[in-house]
Amino acid sequence: MSVTYERRKVPQAQGSRRGGEAPRCYFLTLGCAKNEVDTDRMRALLTRAGFVASEDARDADVALINTCSFLAAATQESIEATLQLAQERDEGIGNLPIVMCGCVPSRYGEELEDELPEVAAFVPVQEEGRIVEVVSDVLGLVTPMSPQGTMSPLRTIEGASAYVKISDGCDRFCAFCAIPYIRGAYFSRPAADICSEVHHLMEGGVREIVLIGQDTGVWGADLDERRDLAWLLEEVSREVRPYGGWVRVLYLQPEGMTERLIAALRDIPEVLPYIDIPIQHCNERMLSRMGRGGSRDELASLFARLREQIPGMVLRSTGMVGFPGETEEEADELVDFVEEVGFDYTSVFAYSQEDGTAAAEMPDQIDEETKLERTQRLMDVAEQLGFQATARHVGEVVDVIIDGVERTDEGTELIGHAWFQAPDSDGAVHIESGEAAVGDIVTCRLVDSFCYELVGTIVEDAEEVA
Ligand code: SF4
Repeated sequence: MSVTYERRKVPQAQGSRRGGEAPRCYFLTLGCAKNEVDTDRMRALLTRAGFVASEDARDADVALINTCSFLAAATQESIEATLQLAQERDEGIGNLPIVMCGCVPSRYGEELEDELPEVAAFVPVQEEGRIVEVVSDVLGLVTPMSPQGTMSPLRTIEGASAYVKISDGCDRFCAFCAIPYIRGAYFSRPAADICSEVHHLMEGGVREIVLIGQDTGVWGADLDERRDLAWLLEEVSREVRPYGGWVRVLYLQPEGMTERLIAALRDIPEVLPYIDIPIQHCNERMLSRMGRGGSRDELASLFARLREQIPGMVLRSTGMVGFPGETEEEADELVDFVEEVGFDYTSVFAYSQEDGTAAAEMPDQIDEETKLERTQRLMDVAEQLGFQATARHVGEVVDVIIDGVERTDEGTELIGHAWFQAPDSDGAVHIESGEAAVGDIVTCRLVDSFCYELVGTIVEDAEEVA
Protein backbone atom coordinates (compact mmCIF):
# COMPACT_ATOMS: atom_id res chain seq x y z
CA MET A 1 0.00 0.00 0.00
CA SER A 2 1.64 3.27 -1.05
CA VAL A 3 -0.35 5.79 1.00
CA THR A 4 1.05 7.70 3.95
CA TYR A 5 -0.44 8.46 7.36
CA GLU A 6 0.48 8.97 11.01
CA ARG A 7 -0.17 6.50 13.80
CA ARG A 8 -2.48 7.18 16.71
CA LYS A 9 -3.95 5.10 19.54
CA VAL A 10 -7.43 3.58 19.74
CA PRO A 11 -9.58 4.10 22.85
CA GLN A 12 -11.96 1.34 23.97
CA ALA A 13 -15.75 1.79 24.19
CA GLN A 14 -18.58 0.21 26.19
CA GLY A 15 -22.17 0.46 24.83
CA SER A 16 -23.91 3.83 24.88
CA ARG A 17 -22.45 6.84 26.65
CA ARG A 18 -25.96 7.71 27.83
CA GLY A 19 -26.54 4.80 30.18
CA GLY A 20 -29.44 2.59 29.10
CA GLU A 21 -30.10 4.39 25.78
CA ALA A 22 -29.63 2.67 22.42
CA PRO A 23 -26.12 3.24 21.04
CA ARG A 24 -25.83 5.85 18.29
CA CYS A 25 -23.97 5.28 15.02
CA TYR A 26 -22.42 8.06 12.96
CA PHE A 27 -21.92 7.30 9.23
CA LEU A 28 -19.44 8.88 6.85
CA THR A 29 -19.50 7.77 3.20
CA LEU A 30 -16.74 8.41 0.69
CA GLY A 31 -16.68 7.55 -2.99
CA CYS A 32 -19.44 6.77 -5.43
CA ALA A 33 -23.18 6.17 -5.42
CA LYS A 34 -22.56 2.43 -4.98
CA ASN A 35 -21.00 3.19 -1.61
CA GLU A 36 -23.99 5.37 -0.67
CA VAL A 37 -26.21 2.34 -1.25
CA ASP A 38 -23.96 0.12 0.88
CA THR A 39 -23.95 2.64 3.73
CA ASP A 40 -27.70 2.90 3.51
CA ARG A 41 -28.06 -0.87 3.83
CA MET A 42 -25.69 -1.00 6.83
CA ARG A 43 -27.58 1.88 8.43
CA ALA A 44 -30.86 0.02 7.91
CA LEU A 45 -29.44 -3.25 9.33
CA LEU A 46 -28.22 -1.42 12.43
CA THR A 47 -31.46 0.53 12.84
CA ARG A 48 -33.43 -2.69 12.53
CA ALA A 49 -31.27 -4.16 15.28
CA GLY A 50 -32.12 -1.26 17.61
CA PHE A 51 -29.19 1.11 17.04
CA VAL A 52 -29.91 4.78 16.33
CA ALA A 53 -28.39 6.76 13.46
CA SER A 54 -26.69 10.00 14.51
CA GLU A 55 -26.01 13.00 12.27
CA ASP A 56 -23.22 14.23 14.53
CA ALA A 57 -20.05 12.35 15.49
CA ARG A 58 -19.96 14.21 18.83
CA ASP A 59 -23.26 12.63 19.73
CA ALA A 60 -22.36 9.11 18.59
CA ASP A 61 -21.05 5.98 20.32
CA VAL A 62 -19.45 4.51 17.21
CA ALA A 63 -18.41 5.91 13.82
CA LEU A 64 -18.63 3.91 10.58
CA ILE A 65 -16.57 5.14 7.64
CA ASN A 66 -17.45 3.58 4.31
CA THR A 67 -14.30 3.99 2.24
CA CYS A 68 -13.39 4.22 -1.44
CA SER A 69 -10.27 2.70 -3.00
CA PHE A 70 -11.01 3.08 -6.71
CA LEU A 71 -7.88 5.21 -7.13
CA ALA A 72 -4.81 5.78 -4.96
CA ALA A 73 -6.10 9.32 -4.35
CA ALA A 74 -9.43 7.93 -3.10
CA THR A 75 -7.60 5.53 -0.75
CA GLN A 76 -5.54 8.42 0.56
CA GLU A 77 -8.68 10.51 1.08
CA SER A 78 -10.39 7.64 2.92
CA ILE A 79 -7.44 7.20 5.26
CA GLU A 80 -7.14 10.94 5.85
CA ALA A 81 -10.84 11.15 6.71
CA THR A 82 -10.41 8.26 9.16
CA LEU A 83 -7.41 9.91 10.79
CA GLN A 84 -9.19 13.25 10.92
CA LEU A 85 -12.07 11.65 12.79
CA ALA A 86 -9.62 9.87 15.10
CA GLN A 87 -7.96 13.20 15.79
CA GLU A 88 -11.26 14.96 16.54
CA ARG A 89 -12.12 12.08 18.81
CA ASP A 90 -8.84 12.37 20.67
CA GLU A 91 -9.19 16.14 20.94
CA GLY A 92 -12.68 16.27 22.38
CA ILE A 93 -15.32 13.95 20.94
CA GLY A 94 -14.15 11.39 23.47
CA ASN A 95 -14.84 7.71 23.36
CA LEU A 96 -15.65 6.99 19.71
CA PRO A 97 -14.48 3.70 18.22
CA ILE A 98 -14.10 3.80 14.42
CA VAL A 99 -15.23 0.97 12.13
CA MET A 100 -13.72 1.16 8.67
CA CYS A 101 -15.91 -0.47 6.00
CA GLY A 102 -15.90 -0.91 2.24
CA CYS A 103 -13.27 -0.82 -0.45
CA VAL A 104 -10.12 0.03 1.56
CA PRO A 105 -10.48 -3.02 3.87
CA SER A 106 -11.44 -5.15 0.84
CA ARG A 107 -8.36 -4.07 -1.05
CA TYR A 108 -5.74 -4.01 1.69
CA GLY A 109 -7.14 -6.65 4.08
CA GLU A 110 -5.00 -7.71 7.00
CA GLU A 111 -2.27 -5.19 6.21
CA LEU A 112 -4.49 -2.56 7.79
CA GLU A 113 -4.67 -3.99 11.29
CA ASP A 114 -1.06 -3.11 12.03
CA GLU A 115 -1.02 0.01 9.89
CA LEU A 116 -4.13 1.71 11.32
CA PRO A 117 -4.33 1.15 15.09
CA GLU A 118 -6.84 4.05 15.25
CA VAL A 119 -9.48 1.75 13.80
CA ALA A 120 -11.36 -0.66 16.05
CA ALA A 121 -12.62 -3.00 13.30
CA PHE A 122 -12.34 -3.47 9.54
CA VAL A 123 -15.32 -4.65 7.48
CA PRO A 124 -14.62 -5.52 3.83
CA VAL A 125 -17.44 -5.13 1.29
CA GLN A 126 -18.19 -8.85 1.28
CA GLU A 127 -18.75 -8.83 5.06
CA GLU A 128 -20.95 -5.76 5.41
CA GLY A 129 -23.94 -8.04 6.11
CA ARG A 130 -22.27 -8.77 9.49
CA ILE A 131 -22.23 -5.11 10.50
CA VAL A 132 -24.55 -5.55 13.51
CA GLU A 133 -22.32 -8.26 14.94
CA VAL A 134 -19.16 -6.22 14.37
CA VAL A 135 -20.55 -2.99 15.88
CA SER A 136 -21.99 -4.89 18.87
CA ASP A 137 -18.60 -6.46 19.40
CA VAL A 138 -16.77 -3.14 19.12
CA LEU A 139 -19.13 -1.58 21.68
CA GLY A 140 -18.67 -4.51 24.02
CA LEU A 141 -22.39 -5.30 24.09
CA VAL A 142 -22.81 -8.51 26.07
CA THR A 143 -26.22 -9.37 24.54
CA PRO A 144 -26.96 -8.38 20.94
CA MET A 145 -29.38 -5.48 20.42
CA SER A 146 -32.94 -6.70 19.84
CA PRO A 147 -34.86 -5.74 16.68
CA GLN A 148 -37.20 -2.76 17.03
CA GLY A 149 -40.69 -2.56 15.47
CA THR A 150 -41.54 -4.21 12.17
CA MET A 151 -38.94 -5.46 9.73
CA SER A 152 -38.48 -2.36 7.61
CA PRO A 153 -37.04 -2.60 4.09
CA LEU A 154 -33.28 -2.24 3.98
CA ARG A 155 -33.21 1.39 2.85
CA THR A 156 -33.48 4.68 4.71
CA ILE A 157 -33.59 7.14 1.77
CA GLU A 158 -35.12 10.56 2.47
CA GLY A 159 -34.71 12.37 -0.87
CA ALA A 160 -36.62 12.08 -4.11
CA SER A 161 -34.08 9.94 -6.00
CA ALA A 162 -32.65 6.61 -4.88
CA TYR A 163 -29.81 4.55 -6.25
CA VAL A 164 -30.60 0.85 -6.47
CA LYS A 165 -27.83 -1.65 -7.02
CA ILE A 166 -28.68 -4.33 -9.55
CA SER A 167 -25.29 -6.05 -9.49
CA ASP A 168 -21.89 -5.92 -7.88
CA GLY A 169 -18.38 -6.99 -8.83
CA CYS A 170 -16.91 -7.10 -12.32
CA ASP A 171 -15.35 -9.79 -14.53
CA ARG A 172 -13.84 -7.52 -17.14
CA PHE A 173 -10.45 -6.79 -15.55
CA CYS A 174 -9.69 -3.63 -17.50
CA ALA A 175 -5.94 -3.19 -17.18
CA PHE A 176 -6.15 0.03 -15.14
CA CYS A 177 -8.94 -0.93 -12.74
CA ALA A 178 -8.74 -2.38 -9.23
CA ILE A 179 -12.51 -2.89 -8.88
CA PRO A 180 -12.56 -6.63 -9.77
CA TYR A 181 -9.93 -7.22 -7.04
CA ILE A 182 -11.91 -5.15 -4.52
CA ARG A 183 -15.48 -6.16 -5.31
CA GLY A 184 -14.91 -9.67 -6.67
CA ALA A 185 -16.64 -11.53 -9.50
CA TYR A 186 -19.74 -10.11 -11.15
CA PHE A 187 -23.07 -11.16 -9.71
CA SER A 188 -26.56 -10.00 -10.56
CA ARG A 189 -29.01 -9.27 -7.81
CA PRO A 190 -32.22 -11.27 -8.29
CA ALA A 191 -35.02 -9.31 -9.97
CA ALA A 192 -37.45 -10.05 -7.13
CA ASP A 193 -35.09 -8.36 -4.60
CA ILE A 194 -34.58 -5.36 -6.84
CA CYS A 195 -38.31 -4.92 -7.52
CA SER A 196 -39.20 -5.31 -3.85
CA GLU A 197 -36.68 -2.60 -2.92
CA VAL A 198 -38.01 -0.33 -5.68
CA HIS A 199 -41.57 -0.92 -4.48
CA HIS A 200 -40.71 0.12 -0.90
CA LEU A 201 -38.75 3.14 -2.06
CA MET A 202 -41.64 4.38 -4.19
CA GLU A 203 -44.08 3.79 -1.34
CA GLY A 204 -41.73 5.83 0.87
CA GLY A 205 -41.89 8.86 -1.43
CA VAL A 206 -38.97 8.29 -3.84
CA ARG A 207 -39.82 9.33 -7.41
CA GLU A 208 -36.70 8.40 -9.34
CA ILE A 209 -34.95 5.04 -9.32
CA VAL A 210 -31.34 5.09 -10.55
CA LEU A 211 -30.12 1.59 -11.37
CA ILE A 212 -26.40 1.12 -10.79
CA GLY A 213 -23.71 -1.59 -10.75
CA GLN A 214 -20.14 -1.84 -12.03
CA ASP A 215 -21.46 -3.10 -15.37
CA THR A 216 -25.24 -2.89 -15.55
CA GLY A 217 -25.47 -3.98 -19.21
CA VAL A 218 -24.72 -7.64 -18.46
CA TRP A 219 -27.27 -7.91 -15.66
CA GLY A 220 -28.95 -11.32 -15.64
CA ALA A 221 -26.35 -13.26 -17.65
CA ASP A 222 -25.30 -15.17 -14.52
CA LEU A 223 -28.84 -15.93 -13.31
CA ASP A 224 -30.62 -19.21 -14.08
CA GLU A 225 -33.51 -17.42 -15.79
CA ARG A 226 -31.10 -15.79 -18.28
CA ARG A 227 -33.04 -12.51 -18.23
CA ASP A 228 -31.47 -9.29 -19.45
CA LEU A 229 -31.43 -5.59 -18.53
CA ALA A 230 -34.18 -4.76 -21.04
CA TRP A 231 -36.48 -7.21 -19.23
CA LEU A 232 -35.48 -5.84 -15.83
CA LEU A 233 -36.25 -2.27 -16.94
CA GLU A 234 -39.80 -3.36 -17.76
CA GLU A 235 -40.18 -5.05 -14.35
CA VAL A 236 -38.81 -2.06 -12.44
CA SER A 237 -40.97 0.32 -14.47
CA ARG A 238 -44.06 -1.64 -13.43
CA GLU A 239 -43.27 -0.72 -9.79
CA VAL A 240 -42.59 2.90 -10.64
CA ARG A 241 -45.59 3.44 -12.95
CA PRO A 242 -48.34 3.95 -10.34
CA TYR A 243 -46.33 6.84 -8.86
CA GLY A 244 -45.55 8.58 -12.14
CA GLY A 245 -41.83 8.12 -11.39
CA TRP A 246 -38.69 7.80 -13.50
CA VAL A 247 -36.16 5.02 -14.07
CA ARG A 248 -32.59 5.84 -15.04
CA VAL A 249 -29.79 3.39 -15.74
CA LEU A 250 -26.09 4.20 -15.34
CA TYR A 251 -22.71 2.54 -16.02
CA LEU A 252 -23.18 0.47 -19.17
CA GLN A 253 -20.24 -0.80 -21.15
CA PRO A 254 -20.51 -0.26 -24.94
CA GLU A 255 -20.91 -4.02 -25.57
CA GLY A 256 -23.98 -4.02 -23.33
CA MET A 257 -26.00 -1.80 -25.70
CA THR A 258 -28.10 -4.45 -27.43
CA GLU A 259 -31.00 -3.76 -29.79
CA ARG A 260 -33.38 -4.98 -27.07
CA LEU A 261 -31.94 -2.47 -24.63
CA ILE A 262 -32.11 0.38 -27.13
CA ALA A 263 -35.79 -0.51 -27.71
CA ALA A 264 -36.43 -0.55 -23.94
CA LEU A 265 -34.85 2.91 -23.54
CA ARG A 266 -37.01 4.17 -26.39
CA ASP A 267 -40.31 2.45 -25.66
CA ILE A 268 -40.78 2.15 -21.88
CA PRO A 269 -42.27 5.49 -20.83
CA GLU A 270 -40.78 5.49 -17.31
CA VAL A 271 -37.24 4.80 -18.56
CA LEU A 272 -35.43 8.04 -19.29
CA PRO A 273 -33.64 8.43 -22.64
CA TYR A 274 -30.38 9.00 -20.79
CA ILE A 275 -27.41 6.69 -20.81
CA ASP A 276 -24.00 6.65 -19.15
CA ILE A 277 -21.46 4.65 -21.17
CA PRO A 278 -17.89 5.15 -19.92
CA ILE A 279 -15.74 4.70 -23.06
CA GLN A 280 -12.38 5.61 -21.40
CA HIS A 281 -10.77 5.95 -24.86
CA CYS A 282 -11.60 5.69 -28.54
CA ASN A 283 -8.27 4.73 -30.05
CA GLU A 284 -8.18 1.03 -30.96
CA ARG A 285 -4.59 0.47 -29.79
CA MET A 286 -5.30 2.19 -26.47
CA LEU A 287 -8.55 0.27 -25.95
CA SER A 288 -6.77 -2.99 -26.66
CA ARG A 289 -3.96 -2.16 -24.19
CA MET A 290 -6.63 -1.28 -21.64
CA GLY A 291 -8.11 -4.76 -22.20
CA ARG A 292 -11.40 -3.28 -23.37
CA GLY A 293 -11.64 -3.86 -27.12
CA GLY A 294 -13.62 -1.81 -29.64
CA SER A 295 -12.57 0.97 -31.97
CA ARG A 296 -13.35 4.59 -32.78
CA ASP A 297 -15.60 3.57 -35.68
CA GLU A 298 -17.54 1.09 -33.57
CA LEU A 299 -18.06 3.64 -30.80
CA ALA A 300 -19.04 6.38 -33.25
CA SER A 301 -21.60 4.11 -34.87
CA LEU A 302 -23.03 3.09 -31.46
CA PHE A 303 -23.59 6.70 -30.38
CA ALA A 304 -25.00 7.64 -33.79
CA ARG A 305 -27.42 4.70 -33.54
CA LEU A 306 -28.52 5.76 -30.05
CA ARG A 307 -29.18 9.31 -31.23
CA GLU A 308 -31.02 8.12 -34.34
CA GLN A 309 -33.23 5.60 -32.61
CA ILE A 310 -34.01 7.37 -29.35
CA PRO A 311 -35.47 10.87 -29.63
CA GLY A 312 -33.79 13.37 -27.28
CA MET A 313 -31.12 10.85 -26.23
CA VAL A 314 -28.78 12.29 -23.58
CA LEU A 315 -25.27 10.82 -23.55
CA ARG A 316 -22.84 10.77 -20.64
CA SER A 317 -19.39 9.22 -20.82
CA THR A 318 -15.97 9.08 -19.20
CA GLY A 319 -12.59 9.58 -20.81
CA MET A 320 -9.23 8.56 -19.39
CA VAL A 321 -5.98 10.24 -20.43
CA GLY A 322 -2.38 9.30 -19.72
CA PHE A 323 -2.76 5.50 -19.87
CA PRO A 324 0.71 3.91 -20.24
CA GLY A 325 2.02 4.31 -23.76
CA GLU A 326 -0.58 6.90 -24.84
CA THR A 327 0.97 9.15 -27.50
CA GLU A 328 0.18 12.85 -28.03
CA GLU A 329 -1.74 11.88 -31.18
CA GLU A 330 -3.80 9.31 -29.31
CA ALA A 331 -4.62 11.83 -26.58
CA ASP A 332 -5.67 14.31 -29.27
CA GLU A 333 -7.79 11.65 -30.93
CA LEU A 334 -9.78 11.19 -27.72
CA VAL A 335 -10.37 14.95 -27.43
CA ASP A 336 -11.42 15.00 -31.06
CA PHE A 337 -13.78 12.06 -30.61
CA VAL A 338 -15.50 13.54 -27.55
CA GLU A 339 -16.06 16.71 -29.55
CA GLU A 340 -17.29 14.79 -32.58
CA VAL A 341 -19.87 12.79 -30.58
CA GLY A 342 -20.82 15.90 -28.60
CA PHE A 343 -21.49 14.16 -25.30
CA ASP A 344 -23.88 16.06 -23.06
CA TYR A 345 -21.76 15.22 -20.02
CA THR A 346 -18.20 13.86 -19.87
CA SER A 347 -16.18 12.96 -16.79
CA VAL A 348 -12.42 13.11 -17.23
CA PHE A 349 -9.83 11.01 -15.37
CA ALA A 350 -6.08 11.00 -15.46
CA TYR A 351 -4.77 7.42 -15.39
CA SER A 352 -3.60 6.41 -11.92
CA GLN A 353 -1.10 3.60 -11.39
CA GLU A 354 -3.02 1.22 -9.11
CA ASP A 355 -1.30 -1.52 -7.10
CA GLY A 356 -2.04 -5.00 -8.38
CA THR A 357 -3.43 -4.00 -11.79
CA ALA A 358 -1.92 -5.07 -15.12
CA ALA A 359 -1.32 -1.48 -16.26
CA ALA A 360 0.69 -0.67 -13.13
CA GLU A 361 3.37 -3.04 -14.45
CA MET A 362 3.47 -1.57 -17.96
CA PRO A 363 6.81 0.02 -18.77
CA ASP A 364 5.86 3.24 -20.56
CA GLN A 365 4.11 5.16 -17.76
CA ILE A 366 3.28 8.79 -18.59
CA ASP A 367 4.71 11.52 -16.35
CA GLU A 368 2.33 13.49 -14.13
CA GLU A 369 2.86 16.81 -15.90
CA THR A 370 1.87 15.34 -19.26
CA LYS A 371 -1.16 13.66 -17.70
CA LEU A 372 -2.22 16.95 -16.17
CA GLU A 373 -1.85 18.79 -19.46
CA ARG A 374 -3.89 16.12 -21.34
CA THR A 375 -6.53 16.11 -18.61
CA GLN A 376 -6.94 19.86 -18.96
CA ARG A 377 -7.26 19.60 -22.75
CA LEU A 378 -10.01 17.03 -22.50
CA MET A 379 -11.73 18.83 -19.65
CA ASP A 380 -11.86 22.07 -21.60
CA VAL A 381 -13.71 20.38 -24.43
CA ALA A 382 -15.93 18.38 -22.05
CA GLU A 383 -16.94 21.55 -20.23
CA GLN A 384 -17.61 23.51 -23.37
CA LEU A 385 -19.85 20.72 -24.69
CA GLY A 386 -21.57 20.34 -21.32
CA PHE A 387 -22.30 24.05 -20.98
CA GLN A 388 -23.65 24.16 -24.55
CA ALA A 389 -25.82 21.08 -23.99
CA THR A 390 -27.23 22.65 -20.82
CA ALA A 391 -27.93 25.98 -22.53
CA ARG A 392 -29.82 24.19 -25.34
CA HIS A 393 -32.55 23.32 -22.82
CA VAL A 394 -33.34 26.97 -22.11
CA GLY A 395 -36.85 27.70 -23.37
CA GLU A 396 -38.05 24.11 -22.87
CA VAL A 397 -40.90 23.16 -20.55
CA VAL A 398 -39.80 20.01 -18.71
CA ASP A 399 -40.56 17.83 -15.73
CA VAL A 400 -38.32 18.46 -12.72
CA ILE A 401 -38.06 16.41 -9.52
CA ILE A 402 -37.76 18.61 -6.43
CA ASP A 403 -34.69 17.58 -4.40
CA GLY A 404 -34.70 20.21 -1.66
CA VAL A 405 -34.45 23.83 -0.66
CA GLU A 406 -31.26 25.88 -0.78
CA ARG A 407 -30.30 29.15 0.86
CA THR A 408 -29.23 31.93 -1.48
CA ASP A 409 -28.20 35.57 -0.97
CA GLU A 410 -31.77 36.56 -1.78
CA GLY A 411 -33.44 34.04 0.55
CA THR A 412 -34.28 30.45 -0.38
CA GLU A 413 -34.98 28.62 -3.62
CA LEU A 414 -36.27 25.20 -4.58
CA ILE A 415 -33.72 22.97 -6.19
CA GLY A 416 -34.41 20.01 -8.40
CA HIS A 417 -33.19 18.13 -11.44
CA ALA A 418 -34.73 17.61 -14.87
CA TRP A 419 -35.02 14.23 -16.60
CA PHE A 420 -31.81 14.93 -18.54
CA GLN A 421 -29.75 15.53 -15.37
CA ALA A 422 -28.60 12.52 -13.32
CA PRO A 423 -28.81 13.37 -9.62
CA ASP A 424 -25.53 14.40 -7.96
CA SER A 425 -23.57 14.61 -11.20
CA ASP A 426 -25.09 16.71 -13.98
CA GLY A 427 -26.09 20.04 -12.44
CA ALA A 428 -29.50 21.13 -11.20
CA VAL A 429 -32.54 23.31 -11.86
CA HIS A 430 -32.84 26.32 -9.56
CA ILE A 431 -36.48 27.27 -9.28
CA GLU A 432 -37.08 30.97 -8.89
CA SER A 433 -40.83 30.96 -8.29
CA GLY A 434 -43.63 28.56 -7.40
CA GLU A 435 -44.37 26.17 -4.58
CA ALA A 436 -43.58 22.46 -4.28
CA ALA A 437 -42.47 19.80 -1.79
CA VAL A 438 -39.46 17.49 -1.93
CA GLY A 439 -40.35 14.54 -4.14
CA ASP A 440 -42.90 16.43 -6.25
CA ILE A 441 -42.49 16.21 -9.99
CA VAL A 442 -43.33 19.68 -11.30
CA THR A 443 -43.50 21.19 -14.76
CA CYS A 444 -40.93 23.95 -15.20
CA ARG A 445 -40.15 26.48 -17.86
CA LEU A 446 -36.36 26.76 -18.16
CA VAL A 447 -35.48 30.44 -18.50
CA ASP A 448 -31.71 30.65 -18.14
CA SER A 449 -28.53 28.61 -17.69
CA PHE A 450 -25.10 29.03 -16.18
CA CYS A 451 -22.41 26.36 -16.60
CA TYR A 452 -24.23 23.06 -15.90
CA GLU A 453 -27.04 24.76 -13.95
CA LEU A 454 -30.46 25.88 -15.16
CA VAL A 455 -32.91 28.43 -13.83
CA GLY A 456 -36.62 27.65 -14.07
CA THR A 457 -40.08 28.71 -12.99
CA ILE A 458 -42.91 26.37 -12.14
CA VAL A 459 -45.66 26.33 -14.75
CA GLU A 460 -48.92 26.33 -12.85
CA ASP A 461 -51.45 25.48 -15.58
CA ALA A 462 -51.74 23.91 -18.98
CA GLU A 463 -52.29 27.21 -20.74
CA GLU A 464 -48.88 28.40 -19.69
CA VAL A 465 -47.28 25.29 -21.20
CA ALA A 466 -48.79 25.98 -24.60
S1 SF4 B 1 -15.71 -2.58 -16.60
FE1 SF4 B 1 -13.51 -2.20 -16.41
S2 SF4 B 1 -13.43 -0.11 -15.51
FE2 SF4 B 1 -15.50 -0.88 -15.13
S3 SF4 B 1 -15.41 -1.82 -13.07
FE3 SF4 B 1 -15.06 -3.46 -14.59
S4 SF4 B 1 -12.83 -3.59 -14.74
FE4 SF4 B 1 -13.31 -1.61 -13.80
